[in-house]
Amino acid sequence: MSPEPVREALEELKTHLAVIADLESAAAVLDWDQHTYMPPGGAEGRALQLATLGRIAHERFTSARTGALLDAAEARGGALDPRSDDAALLRVTRRDYTKASKLPAEFVAELHRAASIGTHVWEEARARNDFALFLPHLERIFELKRREADYLGYREHPYDALMDAYEPEMTSREVRALFDRLVEVTVPLVRAIAARPAPRTDMLEREYEEAPQRAFGMAMAQAFGYDLNRGRLDTSAHPFSTGFGRDDVRITTRFGRSGLGAVFGIFHEAGHAMYNQGIAQALERTPLGDGASYGVHESQSRLWENLVGRSRAFWEYAYPALRRAFPAQLEGADADAWYRAINRVQPSLIRIHADEITYNLHIILRFELEQAVLTGALRPAELPEAWNARMASYLGVTPSTDTDGVLQDTHWAAGLIGYFPSYTLGNVASVQLFEAARRRHPDLEDQIRRGEFGTLLAWLREHVHEHGRKYSPQDLLVRATGGPLSPEPYLAYLKAKFGELYGLAAA
Ligand code: ZN
Repeated sequence: MSPEPVREALEELKTHLAVIADLESAAAVLDWDQHTYMPPGGAEGRALQLATLGRIAHERFTSARTGALLDAAEARGGALDPRSDDAALLRVTRRDYTKASKLPAEFVAELHRAASIGTHVWEEARARNDFALFLPHLERIFELKRREADYLGYREHPYDALMDAYEPEMTSREVRALFDRLVEVTVPLVRAIAARPAPRTDMLEREYEEAPQRAFGMAMAQAFGYDLNRGRLDTSAHPFSTGFGRDDVRITTRFGRSGLGAVFGIFHEAGHAMYNQGIAQALERTPLGDGASYGVHESQSRLWENLVGRSRAFWEYAYPALRRAFPAQLEGADADAWYRAINRVQPSLIRIHADEITYNLHIILRFELEQAVLTGALRPAELPEAWNARMASYLGVTPSTDTDGVLQDTHWAAGLIGYFPSYTLGNVASVQLFEAARRRHPDLEDQIRRGEFGTLLAWLREHVHEHGRKYSPQDLLVRATGGPLSPEPYLAYLKAKFGELYGLAAA
């Protein structure tokens, strides 16, 4: 077969897919606006606009036209190099198309409605500490998600079908094995740390003004490599990053009354944003123009937030600038005291405020409860009690209200079941990636100590960012690090870092 017909069929398919990508980008702009600048009165109209764009994009993507264009391109695709972008485009688009086509349009609409109402009621239930108010909606959402899993199909566990939206081709059996190992090592580690003297953290409780936080955070994000010609920072109730193509990738943060949470939020979201800014131009407006998975995306945010942003080397460089920005707040605290304060380990009730170690236990708890409800082993009504029991056994703390317990996250209300594991998979992968970069560039930490981040970013660009969704998350990790996802490098990192911080004898 000559390459001409292949190219023609591919061009036709790409033109068709580009329109869908544009619809999705336009919806993302509206969504960003909704969380940043839209006045409250705009909510109803915006929900309709987003529903319309979402429906048109979904209809176009699942249309017979997509199927016919894919068939035609695949029939001629034998001439393609299997490692080429075009071969990957056919593979990924076929996978997405097959999946999306399994869900009836009216079911998708029903799920969106349930999630939209569910989120609304959840906000009220959380504010009023009223789980009973939320319960019928939670039951409905789990019921619909169970149906979604049946539509999509699975080999072993309905959870696998749902998790596939975030972690393609990963099974709950694999996640379970990885999480078991994390529990085995981190639960005793947290106990050993609790027996040691806690570092001083009084400087974190002081008031930090917004303007210098913004200036410092963004100066660092730019030093990391976040390109503000193709990005910007705004504020929202919950920090996020969003992109409308690689050349407009925005982040948000939230400035609290005390502490420097907004700065770490900026580091985190800038990590996500740099990933999208680094995707190859050739993948723009195609299904490949996004991150390989939610876990791989989270590996990028965690790498900059934690492996760089909470490292001793980084603060040796950055602390003098922070002291100049906040002389009164940081009076009497040197770089070492600061480093110890921001890495304090303390079991707590709220996931998003958790430290590097206990964070994963919050995730594992949610993973276990979601699985149990999906299979019917646990009823949604039993969730508060099951939540509190697991908090006690994993973290040794029990929430006194459901607001600080089972009602704290928006994910279930929004129908995002199977999403939580990605956070911890991202933590695990972040260490494997950072260490692969350090094997290639042994002086990486010295560079960070000098405020030089270009080598690290270039390595991430070459091994992660530029490929977009071209490789499966598993293949990407093997190509980048030489091995599959493994908890051991991550556990070794935690033991070394926190063993040193808390003076624990090496195990
Ligand atoms: Zn994130």
